[in-house]
Amino acid sequence: MTEAPRHDVLVVGGGVAGLTAGIFTARANLDTLVVNHGESILNRNSHLENVPGFPAGINSRLFLDMTRAQAARNGCVFTDEQVLAVERDDAGFVVNTDEGILKTTYVIVASWPDSTYLDGLDVELDKRGSKQYVGVDEKGRTDEEGLYAAGRIAAKYHQTVVSAGHGAEVALTLIHDSDVPFYNDWVAPEGYFTERGREVPPGCEEISEDERERRERQSLELMQSYFEEPHPDEPTMHPSVVAKRRETDE
Ligand SMILES: Cc1cc2nc3c(=O)[nH]c(=O)nc-3n(C[C@H](O)[C@H](O)[C@H](O)COP(=O)(O)OP(=O)(O)OC[C@H]3O[C@@H](n4cnc5c(N)ncnc54)[C@H](O)[C@@H]3O)c2cc1C
Repeated sequence: MTEAPRHDVLVVGGGVAGLTAGIFTARANLDTLVVNHGESILNRNSHLENVPGFPAGINSRLFLDMTRAQAARNGCVFTDEQVLAVERDDAGFVVNTDEGILKTTYVIVASWPDSTYLDGLDVELDKRGSKQYVGVDEKGRTDEEGLYAAGRIAAKYHQTVVSAGHGAEVALTLIHDSDVPFYNDWVAPEGYFTERGREVPPGCEEISEDERERRERQSLELMQSYFEEPHPDEPTMHPSVVAKRRETDE
């Protein structure tokens, strides 16, 4: 049997925090696998009014579709598997899923509301009612070296933009902890660094005016295609309400 390849980063959870973290790690040239099973809690939202950049709000399912597409476009690879256990090995972590075994150097836990698969590791787990949060430092590191947690599972406020921001912050912590040369993830106009006698710093890019126009045109076309029609999917109702309605109907 062939041995599972080792990824640089394995993100558990392809919701708001996990996708945003993956965008940053993949853009920093870290081979990033997003392991997701089930839907983001954001699918329960009716209309998202408080994410910057959408003056009349946005359908949250469309927002997730676009964020997923952005993660894929920037290099994230996706697999639909449920993570059941994470264990240490010599070079990082072995991740057991309902489909098999995955290997990775770093793990980002972004799997609201499940963290039961961390039981065997040196991770602080804070049980509050029916929920269990993962203890992190101010930059998203857990006590287990190489393992990070982002978003609601790290007890951040239950808001989309907060989870997205935390996903980005935690990914940047991981990138700085890794060997990847990195300054910032910036795209600047041609000459911004080089005409001051500076090298373009790692993680940054200088692009010409032609390339800027090409990217803008492509972005306009893509965004128009996303906003042509209403999203086909409705919000997911809370399971207890679904059960109650079913009882009433019977
Ligand atoms: C009814 C409702 C309305 C809301 N409305 C708003 C709003 O208007 N504005 C706002 O800012 N926020 C809103 N929120 C909050 C917002 O949805 C969350 O704060 C945000 O989605 C948290 O992001 P996250 O990435 O931490 O978790 P999620 O987006 O839930 O992502 C976690 C992902 O991990 C997956 N997962 C879990 N366990 C495993 C496992 N073992 N293996 C693999 N995958 C796993 C899950 O299926 C999910 O896809 C609302 C929430 C609800 C419930």
